[in-house]
Amino acid sequence: MHVYSDPASERHVNHMAGVEAPERFPAALAGVEEAENTGVKVERRPCKPAPRSALEAVHAPAYLEHLEELSASGGGYVDFDTALNSASWETATLASGAAIGAVESALSGTAAFAVARPPGHHAGRAYGMGFCLLNNAAIAARHARSSGVERVAILDWDVHHGNGTQDIFYADGEVLYLSVHQSPFYPGTGDAREVGEGRGQGFTANVPLPGRSGEDLYAEAFAGFFIPVLREFRPGLILISAGYDAHTADPLGGMRLKSASFGRFAAQLAALAREIGAAPPALLLEGGYNLNALTESVAATIRGVEEEAPAWEYSGDVRPIEAARSTLAPFWKSLR
Ligand SMILES: [Zn+2]
Repeated sequence: MHVYSDPASERHVNHMAGVEAPERFPAALAGVEEAENTGVKVERRPCKPAPRSALEAVHAPAYLEHLEELSASGGGYVDFDTALNSASWETATLASGAAIGAVESALSGTAAFAVARPPGHHAGRAYGMGFCLLNNAAIAARHARSSGVERVAILDWDVHHGNGTQDIFYADGEVLYLSVHQSPFYPGTGDAREVGEGRGQGFTANVPLPGRSGEDLYAEAFAGFFIPVLREFRPGLILISAGYDAHTADPLGGMRLKSASFGRFAAQLAALAREIGAAPPALLLEGGYNLNALTESVAATIRGVEEEAPAWEYSGDVRPIEAARSTLAPFWKSLR
């Protein structure tokens, strides 16, 4: 496992969002150490800021200039809960660079985790919101595409729907975006009926779950939806938008996952990647606001990727994910 991180991740302070705090970074790194202490081999890699061309492959040049100038002038707001300080531009471009590094490691055969902040999945082509400035997952996906990977999937298990990632790829069919999230909940998007448009039809797949859902319902989403669709799509690379705010201890999310749940998700996806001959997964940190839960969950995720997949409790009860299955069935044989 390669871990991409930079101490700059602690320098971005979003005054409007106390929970998306600098302390999340050492807490996540403590999870990397915890995995190491239980025998996982981890190699730490430095990150470089994402090159402008990689940022412009996803974001509008004027939006990037706005962020850079706002940060250079000392900071400001791009949304009611999303603020920058003087370090934010550098920190955000390093987070995107970490995601690119993770893709390069994965494509050369080693699973990787970009442990960086701020998160990215609410940021769209020309907007930042929900603590997110640059969409690291989208930047990583486009980087993988330009490196010659024909089919790229992003699986987003953050408790919030990744509206920004969905928006960026909604009409182009270039990347398969899969999300499981709490609904109804911030940011209000992610209905099962949002399936993409034009050439993108069928390449957005949302599994909204009610609040208080636990690992049993997530198991249905993985075994009854994500895994069959991914097996049919046969991506060359699976990117994971790894948010940990669906943890039962999270102050924002209302779900009931345990730290070990994330290890099971990661193990399923790593096993699938091996089965279909894809690169090992590249993971990127999104949300997760209880520091202890973040540490434990990151550790569980890394162990899940590196160890054999444990048995998966799957009842075959598709009722909780029926809306997603029936809506996407016209596009995916494996759901019929
Ligand atoms: Zn979140």
